[in-house]
Amino acid sequence: MTPDDRVYAYSAVLMGSPILLKLFEHNETLASNVFRLIKLQETKLTVNRQQSEVMSVNHAAGDHAVAVSKPVFDLIRRAKAVSVLENSSFNFTIGPLVKRWKIGFNGNSVPAATDLQALLKITDPHDVILDESSQSVFLHKAGMEIDLGAIAKGYIADVVRDFLREQQVTQALINLGGNVQTLGAGAEGAWAIGLKKPFSTPESLIGVINVTNKSVVTSGIYERYFELNGQRYHHILDPKTGYPLDNELLSVTIISDDSIDGDIYTTLLYGMGVEKSLRYLENFPHIEAIFVTKDQQIIFSSQRQFTFMPLDPDYHITG
Ligand code: FAD
Ligand code: MG
Ligand code: MG
Repeated sequence: MTPDDRVYAYSAVLMGSPILLKLFEHNETLASNVFRLIKLQETKLTVNRQQSEVMSVNHAAGDHAVAVSKPVFDLIRRAKAVSVLENSSFNFTIGPLVKRWKIGFNGNSVPAATDLQALLKITDPHDVILDESSQSVFLHKAGMEIDLGAIAKGYIADVVRDFLREQQVTQALINLGGNVQTLGAGAEGAWAIGLKKPFSTPESLIGVINVTNKSVVTSGIYERYFELNGQRYHHILDPKTGYPLDNELLSVTIISDDSIDGDIYTTLLYGMGVEKSLRYLENFPHIEAIFVTKDQQIIFSSQRQFTFMPLDPDYHITG
């Protein structure tokens, strides 16, 4: 028996994403309980259906506050805190712009500049009024929409990890389509997580990240995008301009304990670019980043919680 023979993989499609669960036992019941848990979270947090806790807040924009459950309130509070940081490129009120561009969904198109200008007026995170005592959320302006797409998968990955821990599972991996969370080690001592080669086949990797008990989240411009007249439009939008963020980066990967941090920081640091991010992370030693640039460099902020095995000669480790 090879080490990998001990790993059982279960898959599903949820949240428009391929979901993969790896366990060290054959346990259909546990796997279906995990998928049910993810589905339940999706039901609360999605903005891709008319009904969810988040959508009930959105539907009441400009009109009244809506009470939500404690976990959803806490998640929204966290999303707001990151969004109101000075010059933050993370903005959870980006919903109207996401809905207008439809990047990664049917019917995408490049909005007129005047449309974007109008929508930017309803994407100020300060206009989200949180009331702790009633656990309610009020979107101050009509048309405002919360979108937790840049934080919710990370949060859900942590919910799954906590659930597996409660079930006495000591080794497992959950991949929510780019958001990986791990429990314990993998078959060969650490979990091996592939870093995809941008704009290539799904199997092509530029390297493998080895971690134990860590989250690995990657956000890039090569998964959800469309092309028009030779121009590529990807799904991380600049809250200042309304257009996709444009800089030297292809992707940002975050290695951290909690996947919610990974999800937040991938989006936040993507907007900062490499130089600023490296300085920024000096204050957060438990958050480590791997940047992949358009000129095919791989840059680490630090490397205490993971090892990296390069696999593609076109990409060079710098620094
Ligand atoms: P990240 O880089 O972490 O986040 C990018 C996403 O966040 C964008 O797709 C957008 O939604 C939003 N965003 C864009 N710019 C910013 C910004 N500046 N600040 C903050 N947020 C920004 N996909 C489907 O195709 N069909 C579905 O039915 C579907 N349902 C979903 C339900 C849930 C609960 C969740 C969490 C996601 C769902 N998705 C679905 C995927 C979703 O639309 C996003 O594409 C996905 O969350 C992006 O994750 P990421 O880690 O790749 O990107
Ligand atoms: Mg994400
Ligand atoms: Mg993110």
